[in-house]
Amino acid sequence: MTVAPTQHPPPPPTADAVLKLLSDVIDPELGSNIVELGMVAGTDVAPDGAVTVTVALTTMGCPLRAQIQRDVRARVGSLPGVSSVDISWTELSSEGKAKAMSVARRNVAEKAPDTEIPTTAKVLLIASGKGGVGKSSISVNLAMALATRGHTVGLLDADIWGYSVPRMLDLTGRLEGAETERKILPQTRAVGDGVLKVVSMGLLVDDEQTALMWRGLILNRAVRHFLEDVLWGPMDFLVVDMPPGTGDVQMGIAKLLPRAEMIIVTTPPRSVQNVAARAANMGRKNYLRIAGVIENMTAYAAPDGTRHVLFGEGGGEALAAEIGAPLLGKVPIDPVVSLASDAGEPFVLGEGPAAEAVGGIAERLVSELVPAGELAGCSAHLAGTPVRLAGRPR
Ligand code: ADP
Repeated sequence: MTVAPTQHPPPPPTADAVLKLLSDVIDPELGSNIVELGMVAGTDVAPDGAVTVTVALTTMGCPLRAQIQRDVRARVGSLPGVSSVDISWTELSSEGKAKAMSVARRNVAEKAPDTEIPTTAKVLLIASGKGGVGKSSISVNLAMALATRGHTVGLLDADIWGYSVPRMLDLTGRLEGAETERKILPQTRAVGDGVLKVVSMGLLVDDEQTALMWRGLILNRAVRHFLEDVLWGPMDFLVVDMPPGTGDVQMGIAKLLPRAEMIIVTTPPRSVQNVAARAANMGRKNYLRIAGVIENMTAYAAPDGTRHVLFGEGGGEALAAEIGAPLLGKVPIDPVVSLASDAGEPFVLGEGPAAEAVGGIAERLVSELVPAGELAGCSAHLAGTPVRLAGRPR
């Protein structure tokens, strides 16, 4: 008879391991990591794995505190052996503030970001475990919904060989080069008070066959180019339509965008939940924050108001509970979605249950942004010299 080995919980991490992960947490205003800025005043790991991190803020009232809190929890909580994460807050001394400011200034001046993505842009990776769940439809319409609310939104079609963004937006032109540098310009269009900037493989190659030939050769590098060689300029949001699944290309994108947050799109059947959970795990392995789950193709709401459950129910809630992330919204089945997509007119610009649902999700994401005016209480402004965070000229 074989005896099953006793399962031991993983041992608690060392304080150094915790500190190493904290150096992935960026102060969103100063654009540098909180360890380098001297904002980590202490890390304590109890024998049962309970971690307490003391964070010294530039000012206690800084509205970015919530974001730092979420990031610290997400990163440290992902370490094996951590049973809980507690954050205690304190304030930097005036010397500490001066030091943080000089580190931030030096970094802005010296360290060009690895990508052209401004450090202040909220980067949303729209991912799914498998194709056909509506990930591209959600990406395009969410980007459009954010732009119609007055934001500058980048839309990166990283689904290199299955690109569908140009068709959904009826974009037929080609990406152009910038005049001064060897860089590419996104296709830009005004949307209400906002702006949408689009980059897709479909705007570089002439047909899908050519795109397929590139497969394997440059897939990973293509996305890298889109992040490094596209002059994105200022952006409030960057929405990335990820390739479906959890392979090397997806991991590569997650590594290139360490500050990104993931949104997992899934459908109601619970059978899809496991594949979707894999996408969340991939994000967690790369220490990305999971911003939430969107359930697409929820029950069909007929014009007479009756609900028809076509593909089962509960998948979105179940996935959200399993991965410990909020359910951001449920987008019902709406015939308008595919009609609008074929016509190159995003459905969110019209009316109907799907447009309402995606609009609601956009509102929720906007409400998490800290308005620029509220930053007045934070360090960069206290010191009298606002730091340009994106590190790039406008
Ligand atoms: P993915 O990017 O996950 O492969 P797509 O966005 O291309 O998925 O969507 C797959 C198909 O399902 C498309 O034909 C699209 O129009 C349709 N679709 C997506 N979401 C909905 C919805 N909520 N209601 C009706 N049709 C939808």
